[in-house]
Amino acid sequence: MPASRKRLRIQVEGIVQGVGFRPFVYSAATHLGVDGVVGNDASGVFVEAEGDPTALAALVTALARDAPTLARVDRVATEVMEATGERGFVIVPSPVGGERVTLVAPDAATCTDCLRELADSTDRRFGYPFINCTNCGPRFTIVLRTPYDRPNTTMAGFSMCVECAAEYADPADRRFHAQPVCCAACGPALTLVDGIGRDLGGPPVDTAAELLRAGAVLAIKGLGGYHLAVDAHSEKSVATLRARKHREERPFALMVPNLVAGREIAEIDVVEAELLSTPGAPIVVLRRRAGTEVAQSVAPGSPTLGLMLPYTPLHHLLLKQLAAPIVLTSGNVSDEPIAFTDEDARQRLGGLADAFLTHDRPIHTRVDDSVARVVRGHPQLIRRSRGLAPRPLTLPWTFPAHILACGSELKNTFCLGRDRHAFLSHHIGDLENFETLESFVAGIEHLRDLFDIRPEVVAYDLHPEYLSTKYALELTGVDLVGVQHHHAHIVSCLADNGVDGPVLGVAFDGLGWGPDGTLWGGEFLLADRANYQRLAHLEPVPMPGGAMAVRQPWRMAAAHVQAAYPTGVGGELAVSSRQGRRWTDVLAAAEAGVNAPLTSSMGRLFDAVSALLGVRDAVAFEGQAAIELEGLVDGSETGAYPVSISPDTPMRICAADVVRAVVDDLAAEVSVAVVAARFHNTISDMVLDVCSRLRANTGVAVVALSGGVFQNVVLVDGCVQRLTAAGFRVLTHRAVPPNDGGISLGQAVVAGARAD
Ligand code: ZN
Ligand code: ZN
Ligand code: FE
Repeated sequence: MPASRKRLRIQVEGIVQGVGFRPFVYSAATHLGVDGVVGNDASGVFVEAEGDPTALAALVTALARDAPTLARVDRVATEVMEATGERGFVIVPSPVGGERVTLVAPDAATCTDCLRELADSTDRRFGYPFINCTNCGPRFTIVLRTPYDRPNTTMAGFSMCVECAAEYADPADRRFHAQPVCCAACGPALTLVDGIGRDLGGPPVDTAAELLRAGAVLAIKGLGGYHLAVDAHSEKSVATLRARKHREERPFALMVPNLVAGREIAEIDVVEAELLSTPGAPIVVLRRRAGTEVAQSVAPGSPTLGLMLPYTPLHHLLLKQLAAPIVLTSGNVSDEPIAFTDEDARQRLGGLADAFLTHDRPIHTRVDDSVARVVRGHPQLIRRSRGLAPRPLTLPWTFPAHILACGSELKNTFCLGRDRHAFLSHHIGDLENFETLESFVAGIEHLRDLFDIRPEVVAYDLHPEYLSTKYALELTGVDLVGVQHHHAHIVSCLADNGVDGPVLGVAFDGLGWGPDGTLWGGEFLLADRANYQRLAHLEPVPMPGGAMAVRQPWRMAAAHVQAAYPTGVGGELAVSSRQGRRWTDVLAAAEAGVNAPLTSSMGRLFDAVSALLGVRDAVAFEGQAAIELEGLVDGSETGAYPVSISPDTPMRICAADVVRAVVDDLAAEVSVAVVAARFHNTISDMVLDVCSRLRANTGVAVVALSGGVFQNVVLVDGCVQRLTAAGFRVLTHRAVPPNDGGISLGQAVVAGARAD
């Protein structure tokens, strides 16, 4: 053999199975004239490549650079071997057994090749609602167990026809080893049925479109569960849907046929268009256009709209037929989990939907739509779920043991950790009912099995009443690690940025359990991965009525006004006149210490100001008052209020100053938009002031912003601009939500650091 011939063993790690990686290597190698083999093994994909050194180098480069759309290459390692003189290039079968560390890919939106075939009347899958290939289609929602092979998916019951089997077996084909490959002859079929399962006749998609146009509520079986759909132009249909779902005000998401249709109802910039079009296809929160035909009741009082593009072939067919946006919201009643089995859907949605557009491919895991928005030119997740989970985050640190982190109560996710991978789960929901708790437990078991993780360390929130905490404390034979809520927020931000502490962590949210027995939520922490110190916080006030104060922001206004004017306001406020006797009753109860826990929450201060301004006395969902307050901000206003900070340890931030200034502005008849702007400016100024003092004391000049309050774009903008101008490095969230959906990741990393 020629002396120049070399042989390399190449190991590729990451998401490289079930995404068309071996056919990609095969075609790259044959193209470069390289001989050898490629196969899956326990840690990913291995290649033995033999040939001319230049060609080998080109192959190694191509592995990371040109990898298939759904692949994620974490590492390519090479090792020189003895050349064998072998000719040709082959794909070898996967070995059985061994430790599994490979990764299951998330579900992916229909790719452009499949869309072309779907619309091509000469293609054998023309108009077939379940077309997919190695670059797109269902993954996580259909996988029962690993390895990711067809018998281990919910496609096991469909045997491939001769043509599909040939594509599946052909390394040169786009459908080589695409586990859900199918066609009209051998795969799942669509049906349109009424509430008791009677076929409604006619072509399902056409009839479904007619029903929607006629004002019906349609249940549609999607990737991760059932949705409910109505015509987005019809106030009447949207009102019917709200009444049936018992969902009065929370905005509904829309699915639009394409970007052009999306631009008619919302402003979409380049980054937002890209985000909408990613394989994850999240709901993207966009600025709503005025004067469109979209029903006002889709998102009452909101300046934004949540839009998504069709992400399954079924959605594409239906939206093309309709050529108009539809409301597409989770198939459930109020706060229950979304229905995903056919039986459950029939039972729970029977009274809600007029018809079911459904099919016979089972969904194994319930996965809600992801939600994202663009903040300062970068995508930021609000809910990380369908299309993104369970893709792990690869961290710069190694977990010293297998870890389970149980997450928070609201917007729960859990997180499994091993090696350098953090498997942040899909969105589980608010752990406030039995069904959600069940899906939390089932989710943990499923992901543990998929990724072969046997937790030795279990992390939990310090709140004794969280169901996730109770679940953790009942486990035996594991090391339990309690993690403070706001420490978890800050560390989730460190993990999101791959940065080690110490940092100045600004954690602003609704509520989290503090070790001093008060409820925290307006916190400045000096934090690293293992530990934290509370250096500053909002002056605590009572939360009159406990959880009632979350639903009724006027109660927080009462508490903050009382703290700001201990001897009385001297005059009547609009908010107190609206409440009449209740105002004084509630304050009397709070003073007597009846159900009035102390809180330093920033979220509750936003609620109080919102009520003071007459924006919201009561809310239908957490955060509504703050969201509406943000929506009112006059962006041209630069004024702000002074805030005093006491130099104790920890420093105490005087919210009463802010409340008095707001009351004065209201008395002077300053507009709500200007007061809202001054309030936001005040909080940003205060963040800069406190961080500057803490930098002087600690020498730390990196700030991490986390917690649900930082979903507020005006506030993030204000803080980042001020801090950056003052020479701070500022960390914000990207791939992980700033809200409680990110808590489990923070807990996992803290537990890992403490176990080290
Ligand atoms: Zn495809
Ligand atoms: Zn077939
Ligand atoms: Fe929180």
